[in-house]
Amino acid sequence: MGMFRKIKKSKNFSFPIKFSAVWPIAFATLFLGACQAVNTTAGGAVGIDRTQYMAVSSRQVEQSSAKSYQKTLQEENSKGNLNADAAQVKRIRAIASRIIPQTGVFRPDAPRWAWEVNVISSKTVNAWCMAGGKIAFYTGLLDTLKLSDDEVAAVMGHEIAHALREHSRERASEQMITQLGVAIGGAVLGFGQLGNDALSKAVDVTLSLPHSRQHETEADRIGVELSARAGFNPEAAVTLWEKMGRLSESRPPELLSTHPAPESRIEALRRDATLVYPFYQAANKAR
Ligand SMILES: [Zn+2]
Repeated sequence: MGMFRKIKKSKNFSFPIKFSAVWPIAFATLFLGACQAVNTTAGGAVGIDRTQYMAVSSRQVEQSSAKSYQKTLQEENSKGNLNADAAQVKRIRAIASRIIPQTGVFRPDAPRWAWEVNVISSKTVNAWCMAGGKIAFYTGLLDTLKLSDDEVAAVMGHEIAHALREHSRERASEQMITQLGVAIGGAVLGFGQLGNDALSKAVDVTLSLPHSRQHETEADRIGVELSARAGFNPEAAVTLWEKMGRLSESRPPELLSTHPAPESRIEALRRDATLVYPFYQAANKAR
């Protein structure tokens, strides 16, 4: 009230901010109110600690991922490529059944997710885990790189780590924020359209878009700890990425296009493998 009187008394009063500038600020304030600051995981021994800004819900991202996963499985099934190699299916599911219980170290809810693990017969050198624990391994990755069980666990740990950290939800949220800026400028998109675009981005980031280097580093670090705790030699992460690097000289693996190498990945993995090695030893003593 005092402030108001003061302004009213001023002789040369003019409104300090143009109306056109007020609306974006008002929108942004509203929007940031809806934007949630979270840390999706506990740090683990590797100590991941980074605040993430989420503008879409886990549930929305999980639902659209589950839909996209079913669609992928149906397509591969119609071509006769879904779980056609019984021995590999058994092997990959056995490795997953050891890693999944360890996810509780980073997120208590994760061991109870509706996990699915499927193997696609294809020359594609790839593997991924969608939001909510929907995993696919391609036989091309297993055969071309002749992966050991420890190396499979290294890939799986890495992919699962992306899902635990909800990296695709984070990317969808970034998309939402960017597009909201565009919408404020042009007032062209409705909120519904914004949400749909953001959710399709969440799927794209698993299947076709490169993860950021920061996300890669987090997935590397959490992945190494997950595989060690499951009783797989964490040093296999080093040989895995070395093999991947050698292959990329002749035929770039699909997996590398979605998982670009952070600088000095190999050295960092070697350091982390040493750090988590005691978990590997303890797990094998217990087995
Ligand atoms: Zn990755």
